Amino acid sequence: MKDNRDSKLIGKVRTRVAPSPTGDPHVGTAFQALLDFVFAHRYEGTFILRIEDTDRKRFVDESEDVIFEALEWLNLNPDESPKVGGEYGPYRQSERLNTYKKYAKQLVAEGKAYYCFCSSERLEKMRQDQQAQKKPPMYDRNCRNLTQEEVDRRLASGEKAVIRMKIPDNKEIIVHDLLRGEVKFDSNIVDDQVILKSDGYPTYHLAVVVDDHLMEITHMKRGEEWLSSAPKHVLLYEYFGWQMPLMIHTPTLRNPDRSKLSKRKGNTSLWYYREQGYIKEALLNFLALLVWKHPITNNEIFTKEEMMESFEWEQMNITGPIFDIVKLQWLNGMWIRKKSLEDLLIDIKDWATWVSVVGKEKQEEAKKVLSWIEKDPDFFQKALALTHERLKIISEIPELLSFYYVDKLTYDREDLLQKHEAQDIARILGEVKNRLEKLESWTQETWEATIRKCADDFSFKHKDLFMCMRSAITARKATPPLFEVMNVLGKEESFKRVDDAINFLNN
Ligand code: GLU
Repeated sequence: MKDNRDSKLIGKVRTRVAPSPTGDPHVGTAFQALLDFVFAHRYEGTFILRIEDTDRKRFVDESEDVIFEALEWLNLNPDESPKVGGEYGPYRQSERLNTYKKYAKQLVAEGKAYYCFCSSERLEKMRQDQQAQKKPPMYDRNCRNLTQEEVDRRLASGEKAVIRMKIPDNKEIIVHDLLRGEVKFDSNIVDDQVILKSDGYPTYHLAVVVDDHLMEITHMKRGEEWLSSAPKHVLLYEYFGWQMPLMIHTPTLRNPDRSKLSKRKGNTSLWYYREQGYIKEALLNFLALLVWKHPITNNEIFTKEEMMESFEWEQMNITGPIFDIVKLQWLNGMWIRKKSLEDLLIDIKDWATWVSVVGKEKQEEAKKVLSWIEKDPDFFQKALALTHERLKIISEIPELLSFYYVDKLTYDREDLLQKHEAQDIARILGEVKNRLEKLESWTQETWEATIRKCADDFSFKHKDLFMCMRSAITARKATPPLFEVMNVLGKEESFKRVDDAINFLNN
């Protein structure tokens, strides 16, 4: 294929995903990471994972490990990260506090930022007053013009202070977004943002600018919710005299009712989807499809490698992508069908192994599947083969295959009877079994012909007899083709089940 990449970018691109470790890995993080990964790899560049753990109130222990694990599971491994290291580290913001402090103080020294000593009580009261007056909540710049002497004195006395950036009055701030073009902001409605907190931690605004600059990020992509903060970042780049990376704001993911995808409204944990048995190829494909269609083939089904051959930011669709589970299920089924039975079996084992240990609701089912595989992998694979075509998510397997594994089926009388008398059904089942047992050539044709002939001899509708047989052997209304099911179970087990059904009817 013709290389249609921008030759200036080859080998130069540096992208980063910058999640905050606040709990389960978010599908939004996977979405962001995928796009950054694909773009960086398309240009033989570098994909970086930075952990933004400066919000100590939202910090959740261990969730950093879970972010590594999630990217690993999806094969979106970063080239630089807190785990693999790199030349631009540390990649964990809590380990870069001195750097942020240095830059915050530099801005103060240059008159572009200032110490603020306002207490939280004062700020709270200010906020309430503004709310009562229906004014937008903004810092009233009470500390912006303190004398140097006063600032020095209060700092020396150990008074708590934050550092705020100075926002100029009456200035048009232009944010260049690769997808949205120029977005203009009036500086008069931009707050004098805290950039360094009194605990010495930076806020997102300072940290993201300092880190993206020092890590030489070329394409800074993040969620749309940050667009309104972008003027602050534009100003910070200007204050430091640094060149801005190209900015891209991805659209907010939405539920089918168009509300924002959030923990409260739906499932945002990647682990939820993993536990349900969505496979990674389908998940990645689904996340990509939220904003991108293959520009050449127009196909909906593609791998991330295929995406890497064509993906450009500008092709992204930014109108409200819908996180539609029905579509995800459909895609998952498509991907499952594309897999060989052997590959699907590997996915099922991975699923069962993982869920049996960390699953939240399907642990027992996963253990059951593991025990089935361990007991007789061949048998499991044969049973699976018959269900491969209709499987949508892996967690359906325990239910779909359980009838192969029960010693004694629980019969539904109505299904067995098919509106006939119990004694008639018992008799015809016995007869079918006799004739099938005597068959010399056991094929689909001879098997079917035998059952049809038997139905004729007993003046039964063929359909009724097949249903009744299905019910006797599986205790289900719907199963894969019965002849094939019997072959998986084996004749002995199948005929034993017919006897069980007869006994059930006779008692
Ligand atoms: N830590 C930010 C978040 O989790 C990242 C935003 C960004 O990519 O700059 O939303």
